[in-house]
Amino acid sequence: MAVNREEYQRINDELKARNVTLVAVSKTKPVEDIQELYDLGHRNFGENYVQELTEKAGQLPKDIRWHFIGHLQSNKVKYIAPFVHLIHGVDSFKLLQEIDKQALKNDRIIDCLLQVYIAKEETKFGLDEEELDQVITQFGKLEMKNVRVIGLMGMASFTDDMDKVRGEFRVLKKLFDKTATPLTTHHSPFTTLSMGMSSDYKIAVGEGSTMVRIGSLLFGARS
Ligand SMILES: *Cc1c(COP(=O)(O)O)cnc(C)c1O
Repeated sequence: MAVNREEYQRINDELKARNVTLVAVSKTKPVEDIQELYDLGHRNFGENYVQELTEKAGQLPKDIRWHFIGHLQSNKVKYIAPFVHLIHGVDSFKLLQEIDKQALKNDRIIDCLLQVYIAKEETKFGLDEEELDQVITQFGKLEMKNVRVIGLMGMASFTDDMDKVRGEFRVLKKLFDKTATPLTTHHSPFTTLSMGMSSDYKIAVGEGSTMVRIGSLLFGARS
């Protein structure tokens, strides 16, 4: 089996002790691998692609908390709205509106994180600081009853330069602290800062992450 159980136990214990949530990123991996971690008691899993997520969710236990961590297109929100636990990569106000609309249709409140662009060298999805302010301000003015913004998400540069990675996480943590203050009564306080992957989760946790997204350390490298 591809699942590294020992690594899972070690990482899970390490994170639990620090109150950090582990999202096991299972993209491209078979449902058998997910079931194996599930049987060890794990419930938070992350996927990047809508179709892959809906297919897997249909075959696996209903109490799995599915995190959508990829880039979400507005026209695909409807497929995951019935069951998704947390959407990490929200990068526009328009997308928030669509999530609100689809959540209402499903009589749900969907939790979301705004994705912030922190990697200096790469083109990754996300909002810059100014756009983040704009989205938060717009969100604060409109009464969206079926969507809750509970925090931020970001990805550091893909590099061996860990000082650089640390600096980027620090920027995100600062924005998180700054934005954490509720702007209006229906804007709930931030609880969740999603940062850290296999290669940099220790640094992320040291910089204040509350949720890490780890794939290859648990499930092996993706082809
Ligand atoms: C794939 C992916 C991860 C997990 O990456 P690993 O390096 O395998 O831990 C985390 N976050 C996002 C957004 C991803 O796309």
